[in-house]
Amino acid sequence: MKTIYVDNGATTKTDEEVIKAMLPYLSESYGNPSSIYKLGRENKKAVEEARDKVAKVLNCEPNEIYFTAGGSESDNTAIKGIAYQYRDKGNHIITSKIEHPAVLETCKKLEKEGFEVTYIGVDENGILNLEELKKEIRPTTTLITVMFANNEIGTIEPIEEIGKIAKENDIIFHTDAVQAVGNVEIDVKKLNIDSLSLSGHKFYGPKGIGALYVRKGIKFDKFINGGHQERNKRAGTENVPGIVGLGKAIELTYESLEEHNQKIKELRDYYVEQVEERIAYIKINGDKERRLPGNSNISFRFIEGEGLLLNLDLKGICASSGSACTSGSLDPSHVLLAIGLPHEIAHGSLRVSIGKYNTKEEIDYLVENLVEIVERLREISPLWEKFMEEENR
Ligand SMILES: *Cc1c(COP(=O)(O)O)cnc(C)c1O
Repeated sequence: MKTIYVDNGATTKTDEEVIKAMLPYLSESYGNPSSIYKLGRENKKAVEEARDKVAKVLNCEPNEIYFTAGGSESDNTAIKGIAYQYRDKGNHIITSKIEHPAVLETCKKLEKEGFEVTYIGVDENGILNLEELKKEIRPTTTLITVMFANNEIGTIEPIEEIGKIAKENDIIFHTDAVQAVGNVEIDVKKLNIDSLSLSGHKFYGPKGIGALYVRKGIKFDKFINGGHQERNKRAGTENVPGIVGLGKAIELTYESLEEHNQKIKELRDYYVEQVEERIAYIKINGDKERRLPGNSNISFRFIEGEGLLLNLDLKGICASSGSACTSGSLDPSHVLLAIGLPHEIAHGSLRVSIGKYNTKEEIDYLVENLVEIVERLREISPLWEKFMEEENR
């Protein structure tokens, strides 16, 4: 059976060209970038070339980029590192209710250590409430951390406005841009971003490699102590193949960003149109305009997202659910609750995230199966039965 991969928000297939760029550093070019002989120097050069590529895309200086082991580490480093460094100035942090766990759990950890954290709400489309943000700023606020684009519902946040508010109030602004990098143009100067996380495997690069941008002049505690790598901020021999892969992936992605985005968006819109046309009692989540090109999040009433996923899997389709059932928790997604969905609707949500390798034939196959599965699951749903009785009364 063929695999239909429409879970590009979870991770992406590594591009063949990325693998090709990495291969020498997994074989003959194995030197340590800190070594002074040629084998070391050529590895150092490869790392710095990748750094240049990341900096070029973000419009920052190469020495404002630090390589990490992924998005989670970048978020942890930035948020904790900045919070600790500026603790003398204040202990208040502002974030949103819809952040990725890499941010939410980090903030919770800081709360246990005596920091105060305010979680700002979002509207029914997932857009941050800017008035609430302004109101919650205190003289002790040192950091605002709001994600660039949401991983579940695809909503793109008003980053430029948030950056402006942070700047006016002399507060550092970090953004988890893990879903945004590879999907939208990002200029950290124009957007007033002080700190930003990205991760290679979300844009056809390898897993376990990410980067953190921190604007020059902003201080943060080092996350890993040891050697002097990454300008003394992140000890440990560099993951050279990963770094080279990330550099190649970001370069490739931004060379053809518009072309891919157009194709991806067309497929996504086609998928949503088909579902709207063929399946009743659904709710489309996230903002219609301000959203990632490949993301769709749809709630199918009267069914469980988990059942949907298992049945799609039987057909070779990889997607993801809006509820956290699959991760062993019975709570629906905090993001879907934050946009005001009742528990029972949030539970029946499906995230389909389309990427550059998907085809129209795959979307047709997905829709055919989805129509059939939703119908079947509703037939055995007591909620559906009750609803239908009431409808027909
Ligand atoms: C995937 C993701 C992360 C975590 O990145 P890793 O590289 O898997 O650690 C963080 N934030 C968002 C928004 C993500 O989508």
